[in-house]
Amino acid sequence: MKGLILFDIDKTLIKCSTEYATAFSKGFKKIYKIDSTIDIINYQGMTDQQIIIEVLEKNGLKESEIVSRIEECMRVMVDYFDEVKDSVQIKVLQGVPELLKKLEEQNFLIGLVTGNLEPIGRIKLEKVGLGKYFKFGGFGSDDVSRTKLVKLAIRRAEENFGFEFDDNVFLFGDTPKDMEAGNGAGVVAVGVATGEYSKGELEDADAGYVVDDLGDTEKILDLVLGKE
Ligand SMILES: [Mg+2]
Repeated sequence: MKGLILFDIDKTLIKCSTEYATAFSKGFKKIYKIDSTIDIINYQGMTDQQIIIEVLEKNGLKESEIVSRIEECMRVMVDYFDEVKDSVQIKVLQGVPELLKKLEEQNFLIGLVTGNLEPIGRIKLEKVGLGKYFKFGGFGSDDVSRTKLVKLAIRRAEENFGFEFDDNVFLFGDTPKDMEAGNGAGVVAVGVATGEYSKGELEDADAGYVVDDLGDTEKILDLVLGKE
């Protein structure tokens, strides 16, 4: 096994229509009796539990009140997304299927680190035929902290796939929060400028490397093979 390559989902691998944002509003309404969208905060790169807490705090709820029912809120979100999954539109970003295929062929271990709740992240990837590449990861349903999700994904790789953690873990993501999480967990953070942030902004967030997108398969392979 050559190394562990971890990917964020939204705006790194795929772009998704707005049903996911609506799922939060459904959860806020049903569990907390709050009418709110997530657009009142900058949620880019935040985990779903962070988004729930911050949006509801802005609506006047206390963290303890929010956390005590957060599992129920997440369940409402998953149920809603599952209900509407057939109408969800997903665009796979440039080069992604080719890159994943190449990484697998080259015997890299591939995982996810996403703020998405696991069932929702899995539905998204299954819809576009990418689910098969990701046997494990760290998900927004596992923890509030994205750094902890990176550590959790590594632990799962060690426990289930005989992975040995060294300087052989790369985390690809589109936001400064992905870079912060990767650096916090001691892995190489690679900024992909296919989201709301430019290469410069990702560099400023201490990305180890930055790329325009995942389209240049050879360049990315060189990077993870340590040839660049
Ligand atoms: Mg993202």
